[in-house]
Amino acid sequence: LRLVGLGDVYKRQVKGKDFIDEKKIRTNLEQQAHPDPQRVRDILQKSLSIKLLTPEETAVLLNVTDPALLEEMREAALEVKKRVYDNRIVFFAPLYCSNLCVNRCVYCGFRSDNPEEKRHILSPEEIYRETEAIIDEGHKRLIAVYGEHPKSDADYIADSISTIYAVKRTTPSGNGFNNIRRVNINAAPMAVEDLRKLWRAGIGTFQVFQETYHPGRYAELHPANTIKGNFRWRLYAMHRAMDAGIDDVAIGALFGLYDWKFEVMGLVEHAHDLERQFGIGPHTISFPRMQPAPGSFLSENSPYLVNDDAFKRLVMVLRLAVPYTGLIVTARERAELRREIINYGCTQTDASSKIGIGAYAGKKLQEENADKVQFMLGDQRSLDEVIKELADDGYITSFCTAGYRCGRTGDKIMNLLEKGVEGKFCKLNAVLTFREYLNDYASAATKEAGERLIQRELQEIENTSFFTDKKLLPTFLNYYRRIAAGERDLYMSVSYTHLTLPTIL
Ligand code: SAM
Ligand code: SF4
Repeated sequence: LRLVGLGDVYKRQVKGKDFIDEKKIRTNLEQQAHPDPQRVRDILQKSLSIKLLTPEETAVLLNVTDPALLEEMREAALEVKKRVYDNRIVFFAPLYCSNLCVNRCVYCGFRSDNPEEKRHILSPEEIYRETEAIIDEGHKRLIAVYGEHPKSDADYIADSISTIYAVKRTTPSGNGFNNIRRVNINAAPMAVEDLRKLWRAGIGTFQVFQETYHPGRYAELHPANTIKGNFRWRLYAMHRAMDAGIDDVAIGALFGLYDWKFEVMGLVEHAHDLERQFGIGPHTISFPRMQPAPGSFLSENSPYLVNDDAFKRLVMVLRLAVPYTGLIVTARERAELRREIINYGCTQTDASSKIGIGAYAGKKLQEENADKVQFMLGDQRSLDEVIKELADDGYITSFCTAGYRCGRTGDKIMNLLEKGVEGKFCKLNAVLTFREYLNDYASAATKEAGERLIQRELQEIENTSFFTDKKLLPTFLNYYRRIAAGERDLYMSVSYTHLTLPTIL
């Protein structure tokens, strides 16, 4: 593997400088070490008007320790989430396609010098069978994950995207088909020409985690003679994705590698630079906490492991700092913590996840597959169980992928999210896809909780002038009845060209 296209990295630096400036981040954190409560409240007001916070403002929030102020922040975070995304949670499943890897990241079970790992790359037939098993859980979107290796290059990834989209399954109720309608990718940073291959194959979101935004710590954890050892190649991965035409990009940091406050500042700087250079912020931000990985001492003994309290604070601050961006909490976290974190403003999560290579079709728990996993998950509950828990908490599961299929991606969706329109409009598609799930896959207990929730949602929709004024209601109710009677994959695809934003608002 070669790093072709390094010139694309330098092209995106501003005046020869990276958007991550260690000194500036440190100065911000130090200067805002003792936040004034009134300043904090002013910043919360800015967040509530759905505006990206500056790095200085983010540093203020990161330094709040007073329990009463933290509670005000929590409430504001929840309100921001409600305004932008309402009470929807989007579900996906991870599909690990290959654990072959040429890198040696010290925290990861896939690293090439880990003799405990049994290596395997899924064939197209195996990807097909894994996808069938994921669809049979009720999923409609997934994220495919790959180690970095010549065998899992852009052509392999593009082919796997096509294979996944080709799988169709009869639903258990016999009501037509279910399929994966959105394939996101988590893979190594690539050159623009390779990213174009993924774009042509129909990639949803392209996700790369920076791991740590601290250049020195990054160098300690990623040997210099590996591809991943190049900090800048990774730092500008999303800039290249945008250059390739992929306008839904997802960023993240692996929390536990370095100081959590520094990482949050890095993520916010990253969001600012994408906005500055492309006019579009990240579609989602992830904040995975490092989990124990087979054969990795650091994964359990890092001096920077983030405890639950700090974790809750960092999620809250991210929600407030980048109000329009989706936040992903994964099954890495324990069930009870995940439930709480969702309350702090997360918008996406996974369930029924299996991260062993080939583990879905083989129906294997991670304990039976420990030599093929990257790390251990904290929550192995089924999609059905998690959906029930969320329905009990008032959250509606959305399998909606209509946004993408109507072309509401990138700057188009960002505009709607920032103006709070997306949250309202997508409620309709959330209800339609939840209806499908309840009819096709839900257990009796989930169905009972789901029916209660969906009735509340229907009432709210019928009483909301946004829906009645825009004449969306008759079409929606028509689709709802048809889905309840057995039709599938009907979604609201109103063209925004005839709904000018100011009149919607
Ligand atoms: N190989 C590609 C790369 O590194 O970008 C993509 C796949 S890698 C399997 C996906 C992510 O897993 C990494 O970016 C890293 O943040 C995360 N990861 C690695 N080790 C982990 C651990 N011990 N616990 C939790 N997440 C981990
Ligand atoms: Fe390979 Fe990615 Fe794991 Fe690093 S994090 S060892 S690049 S799979």
